[in-house]
Amino acid sequence: MKRAVFPGSFDPFTTGHEGIVRRGLSLFDEIIIAVGANALKKSYYSLETRKKMIASAFVDEPRIKVCHYEGLTVDFCIRHEAKYILRGLRTSADFEFERAIAQVNKALAFEVESVFLLTVPEHSMINSTIVRDIIRSGGDASNFVPKAIDLKKYRGED
Ligand code: ADP
Repeated sequence: MKRAVFPGSFDPFTTGHEGIVRRGLSLFDEIIIAVGANALKKSYYSLETRKKMIASAFVDEPRIKVCHYEGLTVDFCIRHEAKYILRGLRTSADFEFERAIAQVNKALAFEVESVFLLTVPEHSMINSTIVRDIIRSGGDASNFVPKAIDLKKYRGED
């Protein structure tokens, strides 16, 4: 069973994230979307809200699971018998950032491989920070999140 973990803050989960996960299904049997629970980093949507939003986008897809974790991503992978970390790349800045993380993860757990998918051009400008700012300012961000996520149902924390 080829199992991958797609880790991130997902505050909120966007169409960019969705694209990477759906494409990942052609490479992996199962993908665990792992929402990072960082007690020190304040998020706009609570952990439970982020998990609910993501689950609502994949009700049709039994090969996708939604979990959360604290601590190291590689430890989460080992606990869940996942040999792959899936990440998305938009720009060269993403590449530089991801390279450092992947190389450190390799040093921590040699058996876990990081796999990168390049985003499609129409998703390359989408990032959670901008989507969050649109929502906070009362704008319509529905084109930037998966169709199944009804943003009106969810409240942010500030
Ligand atoms: P993190 O805080 O770990 O960067 P994010 O929620 O911002 O978490 O992103 C999780 C993963 O999704 C990262 O690999 C990031 O590069 C990727 N990603 C974010 N936005 C997009 C997008 N629009 N297209 C493709 N990949 C994306």
